[in-house]
Amino acid sequence: MDHLIDDSDRLKPCPFCGGAAEMHQAHDPDGPNDQGYYVECGKCGASTNLRFSCGEDARPLLMEQWNRRTQDAEALKSERRAITFGDIVQQQVIAMRAAVVAGKLEGLDVGMQWIANTLCGPGHLPDLDEAKALGGAQALWDKETAEHEAFRAAHPAP
Ligand SMILES: [Zn+2]
Repeated sequence: MDHLIDDSDRLKPCPFCGGAAEMHQAHDPDGPNDQGYYVECGKCGASTNLRFSCGEDARPLLMEQWNRRTQDAEALKSERRAITFGDIVQQQVIAMRAAVVAGKLEGLDVGMQWIANTLCGPGHLPDLDEAKALGGAQALWDKETAEHEAFRAAHPAP
């Protein structure tokens, strides 16, 4: 059983599963790994390589190595999210452009169908009776914009 060193307060969560990570020291008196340090996730077992203290303490370097891996994973996730949202916005713009072209060249109903199809897939078609009861398009827009602004105020961007 390897010795456990409590560095959990300074080690970031596992980049793969979010589990708590801990610093360990190999205890293997007859083996080549004896006294080597490593960081390991207590949940999925992801770990750093072994590092030995030769003159200087290997632990700060291991901690930095582990924490950098977590930061890299978070940055990658954040970039993927930004790309996904960018794709969604771009798809909406492309559909609206096609709707304008269809509306001008083939008639307003055909243009409107492009917009309806775009909203229908993800389940965003508005309920017409509800919108009518509210007072129409402007009233619906005002209500939904206010709701979104309230949501954003409650969940500010970091
Ligand atoms: Zn893990």
